[in-house]
Amino acid sequence: MRENIDGHFLLIGLMAYPIRHSLSPQMQNTIYAKLNIPYVYLAFEVDQQKLPDAVKGLRALGLRGSAVSMPNKQLVCQYLDKLTPAVEMSGACNTISNEDGVLTGYNTDGIGYMRMLKEADVDIIGKKMTILGAGGAGTAIIVQAALDGVKEIAIFNQKDDFYPKIEAVAKKLNENTDCKVYVYDLADKDKLRSEIASSTLLCNATGVGMKPLEGQSLITDPTMLRSDLIVTDCIYSPRKTKLLEIAEAQGCKTLNGIGMMLWQGAAQVKIWTGEDAPIDYVKEKMGFND
Ligand code: NAD
Repeated sequence: MRENIDGHFLLIGLMAYPIRHSLSPQMQNTIYAKLNIPYVYLAFEVDQQKLPDAVKGLRALGLRGSAVSMPNKQLVCQYLDKLTPAVEMSGACNTISNEDGVLTGYNTDGIGYMRMLKEADVDIIGKKMTILGAGGAGTAIIVQAALDGVKEIAIFNQKDDFYPKIEAVAKKLNENTDCKVYVYDLADKDKLRSEIASSTLLCNATGVGMKPLEGQSLITDPTMLRSDLIVTDCIYSPRKTKLLEIAEAQGCKTLNGIGMMLWQGAAQVKIWTGEDAPIDYVKEKMGFND
């Protein structure tokens, strides 16, 4: 593939720090090669201090776009020309598209989660979901779900720095969408039980279940999970978290974080290239079927 790169290729960046561990360059370049389109994706170590110059560089060099990850997702918004409603509401952008010098900020994490549900034949539109955790991933999911037409969202977060932030986002969503959004303290287990009982779907968007908290679950009492509840976990390593193990034993349909990751990347491919990503091929190539 590399010997095919000529002067017509377009560059997509990834601006984050640290970033060398990311799977995104391999995933994106696998897609471009399979589709035989003239794009190349490279990761750049960009921290908050370097971010303003990096965005200027993106404009000056005419990159087609860039992914944005920690710690830049919030800060980058102020350097862009346009923001999608999801970015306006969540205050976080993970994708920049450069259209003839106009930079638009998108957030494909929530798009990826909702698409993953659709691909798994899970219909949550007009229904209620409960979500554990409202950090970067959780907030993106909550905002997209509300914009897409989920009827009610019960959010449970521990009383940390994320709590007042998601309260502010919930207020905006309640004022600007038809979705009813409520924020509760994760410590209130009775409330958690009753909200899950009236939900179609439960989503874990915390890191509880992956290293260093692998083997742990925020739900420990299996009776909180009815067999017709759909249980999803944003975590993709391990593939089956303790929560998904408990849910599976209860007979619930379960979905791990692989689909969200793949479909958020596919949404980026669509934004930057206009093409549909060959998801099954990527899954196989990157060993996600194992
Ligand atoms: P974040 O740091 O922005 O948010 C962390 C969230 O977890 C917050 O809500 C915080 O309150 C909560 N939390 C942290 N420790 C906790 C504990 N001990 N008990 C209860 N709650 C706790 O992180 P993030 O970027 O939102 O990532 C959250 C999870 O989602 C991670 O496991 C990450 O790997 C996963 N993720 C998956 C995808 C995907 O595409 N599948 C994308 C992004 C993140």
